[in-house]
Amino acid sequence: MKNLLRIISVVSLGVLLSFSLSKEKKVVVIDAGHGGSDLGVNRENFIEKDIVLKVAKKIKELNKNSNLEIVLTREDDSYPSLTDRTDKINQLKPDLTISLHVNSSPKVDSDKKGAEVYYKRDDASKSFADKLASKFNNCPVMVKNLHMLRVPENPAVLLELGFANNKEERDYLGSEKGQTETAEKILSVINEH
Ligand SMILES: [Zn+2]
Repeated sequence: MKNLLRIISVVSLGVLLSFSLSKEKKVVVIDAGHGGSDLGVNRENFIEKDIVLKVAKKIKELNKNSNLEIVLTREDDSYPSLTDRTDKINQLKPDLTISLHVNSSPKVDSDKKGAEVYYKRDDASKSFADKLASKFNNCPVMVKNLHMLRVPENPAVLLELGFANNKEERDYLGSEKGQTETAEKILSVINEH
């Protein structure tokens, strides 16, 4: 009996090893914009750096896929410079980087709302950006020349989660429910991609 158990455990270890080796882990970097003294959009207690960090941490927490590793560029209220972030990304060579931000219009009474997706001009980034946009009410998708898109050598997109000008979106993104739903949506696109 003891020998049989030993054989079973050796065989199952072999199966596990061959399974984990046969499928390489997907690595996705989630970059929570701003941090530290860089607040990002700051409107009526709505502080962009805190909102995007909460969503980034939720994406990591909610990930139950053992073939997916989520890496954050910051885990707390620190401010890694844009170069620190892209140095880390280019060392890691992830499959994808997603930077999270919240939009704001310079016009205080602007009625602008909704997400926006920016991407680096390459097919892999565009393909992911399109899928992301389809989960966010078919929001606009556009190429932008930003450090966080230009410098990473691998595919990269930047997601503006909504407009801080819009009270409804500010309340939604500021709520636990809104943050969880947003993180779930992003994670589902990563898993389907
Ligand atoms: Zn921002």
